[in-house]
Amino acid sequence: MSQAQVQCPHRREGGEAKHIALKEVRIALAGNPNCGKTTAFNEYTGTHQHVGNYPGVTVDKKEGFISLDGTEVLMVDLPGTYSLTAYSQEEIVTRAVLAPEKVEEKPLAVIDLVDTSALERNLFLTVQIMEMGLPVVLACNMMDEARKAGIHVDTELLGKQLGIPVVGTVARSGEGLKEALRQAVAFGRRSGTPLDISYGQDLDPVLVRMEHVLLENKVLTDRYPARWIALKVLENDSEILKQLEKTPNVAARLRSERETVAEHLRNTLQTSPEAVIADYRYGFIRSVLRSGAIRQESARDRLALSDKLDKVLTNTLLGPIIMLAVLYAMFQLTFVIGAYPQGWVEDGFGWLGDTVSGLMPDGFLKSLIVSGVIDGLGGVMSFVPLIIIMFTLVAILEDFGYMARMAYMLDRVFRAFGLHGASVMPFIIAGGIAGGCAIPGVMATRTLRSPKEKLATLLTLPYMACGAKLPVFLLLVGVFFPENPARSMFLLTLAGWAAALIMARIMRSTIIRGESTPFVMELPPYRIPTLRSVITHCWERTWMYLKKAGTVLVAVSILIWASMTFPTLDPEQAAPMETRIAALQEKVDALAEDDAARAPLEEELASVQAALSEAELQNSVAGRLGMAIEPLTRPLGFDWRTDVALLGGIAAKEAIVSTLGTAYSLGEQDPEEATSLAERLAQDPNWNKGTAVALMLFVLLYSPCFVALVVIRQEAGSWGWVAFSMLFNTAFAYVVAAVAYRIVMAL
Ligand code: GDP
Ligand code: MG
Repeated sequence: MSQAQVQCPHRREGGEAKHIALKEVRIALAGNPNCGKTTAFNEYTGTHQHVGNYPGVTVDKKEGFISLDGTEVLMVDLPGTYSLTAYSQEEIVTRAVLAPEKVEEKPLAVIDLVDTSALERNLFLTVQIMEMGLPVVLACNMMDEARKAGIHVDTELLGKQLGIPVVGTVARSGEGLKEALRQAVAFGRRSGTPLDISYGQDLDPVLVRMEHVLLENKVLTDRYPARWIALKVLENDSEILKQLEKTPNVAARLRSERETVAEHLRNTLQTSPEAVIADYRYGFIRSVLRSGAIRQESARDRLALSDKLDKVLTNTLLGPIIMLAVLYAMFQLTFVIGAYPQGWVEDGFGWLGDTVSGLMPDGFLKSLIVSGVIDGLGGVMSFVPLIIIMFTLVAILEDFGYMARMAYMLDRVFRAFGLHGASVMPFIIAGGIAGGCAIPGVMATRTLRSPKEKLATLLTLPYMACGAKLPVFLLLVGVFFPENPARSMFLLTLAGWAAALIMARIMRSTIIRGESTPFVMELPPYRIPTLRSVITHCWERTWMYLKKAGTVLVAVSILIWASMTFPTLDPEQAAPMETRIAALQEKVDALAEDDAARAPLEEELASVQAALSEAELQNSVAGRLGMAIEPLTRPLGFDWRTDVALLGGIAAKEAIVSTLGTAYSLGEQDPEEATSLAERLAQDPNWNKGTAVALMLFVLLYSPCFVALVVIRQEAGSWGWVAFSMLFNTAFAYVVAAVAYRIVMAL
């Protein structure tokens, strides 16, 4: 187990500037979820990773360089885990970093960050890392809170008991972090014997025999300590068992050892090896803590305040009511406050379009810039103020610790639908509180332990009202249900939830059948959110939206514009109308501003222009495609322009409104008098409440967007589920929208 000087294979760019070859070491940062790891990592490396008062925010491992007294340290931020079994993605990632396939990638030491106020639970992971044979430095984090709570830690005594360095830290302020790192580098260079604790008279002899078999056959022992492998076999660890299968005779012997002792434990103590192992680990931890290293002074502390708050906020009766009230308040706040800046942005883009339109000569370029780029971008950007407000509110709730309570309260509801309390965060990120995005939502399902619950979650979360669908809703609600926009939006969000939950239930009793797993998430103590954290959160999400808007959407918008403009109308067909327009225009221009004969002429001119635009659009690629599918969507009340927009929406949902905008502004009689899209829809006889409801439901439920599909492929592991998402969701949306259309039209 020696790992003296680890050379890092990939050095940071720009390292040539330093002439002396620096020593590079790898230090891993481990800990339970929500113990402050990301905060510490950011403090160490000066980066701005997402910090959240919600377990399971970090799933991927992240790396960063720090130099410390001439040593270059590569710090690896591990996902938060409570344990090192192979149940979840985080645990598997963590194990792979602690015991990598390539020996040279093994960390020199681990800084294990623990929440000092919850040492007993946190040390469960510490013990397991030590059993893996890695030198561990214990960073007792959130010392500030512990102090306030009257918890006194004798770090020296605790260190002596555990046989490792212990440092008190406050990740938020950086206190103690450097010291912890220094200790880790120093300790890593001299230590490396795995922790060896007793697992009692039943298991100890079995462990020794198994270790013997492993060492004799040199199976996996270059990667893990033999005793640790033996423990994992006793815990029935699927990953280790799979690796052992490569040497079938060894695997068979170990399995038979496990079966014998498991049988014995069942008969004598009605228990299992896993349970005995956990009991002894906790027993070891308790004996360490009883040594006097930890003293609790008073109960008048923040945790008690947290508990008091929880009595109200998670109360069986009051809790759900407060939760709904909070969600509803978020809506009202967002839409009432957001209406102002949204109007300014819209006006701004309107002005820009008019100005550019006035400056440029007529032609394709003008059409491209005004109808393709400015209109497209305007539709997307006007939504940014709402996103900012919504995300600020979400960030505050998340940092405050309320999101975790929502997960806790909703766990029972979710369970009834075959999901898990931990599905809540993915759903909320995806737009459970309208304004999220399915892409990070799908990625957040990695925190779910059971693959089946994960699959059910990620397949149903695209039904949520994501930020990109909101402009469609806002537009249609504004035109057809202006009496109470907030209520309509709230109902749509609920419709998304209902669809997701019902579908999840159906899937969990048909195509993804299986057991449900218990809820194991911690409720973090309530904390006052920091300004920096709220801003970082909000900015990250807004930036993601802007990036998408700025790249994919402009490209999509241009593509759609092109498909709506080309091929151009046959000159033979266009010429007669164009001549008439020119002739009419001439007559109009010849008349004085207030001439009574002007009005009927202008009317005629407008109708000919509209006929021409219509003919042009119908002749284009998009128009032909839209018209080809128009008969199909007639039961929903959609015409071919809507169909074109919906096709664009598969590329990115944001494209729906911008495409509609382009479609209608291209069909406009007079660009000088360009009415807004909302006014156009209000006047159009093809549009009514039924069409609006059908379109909103269709957009809510139909195929996820292109990028979401790519992430679904990643997380679900097969293109089959991608095809399912596209086809099934679209078919489902079709049926729901058709039924809704019938109902509204009948009313
Ligand atoms: P992670 O899940 O382990 O990555 O934890 P985060 O870094 O996301 O932190 C969780 C929450 O704890 C955030 O609200 C942090 O601001 C807060 N936090 C982190 N370290 C400390 C600390 O030392 N003291 C206090 N009071 N809060 C902390
Ligand atoms: Mg984190």
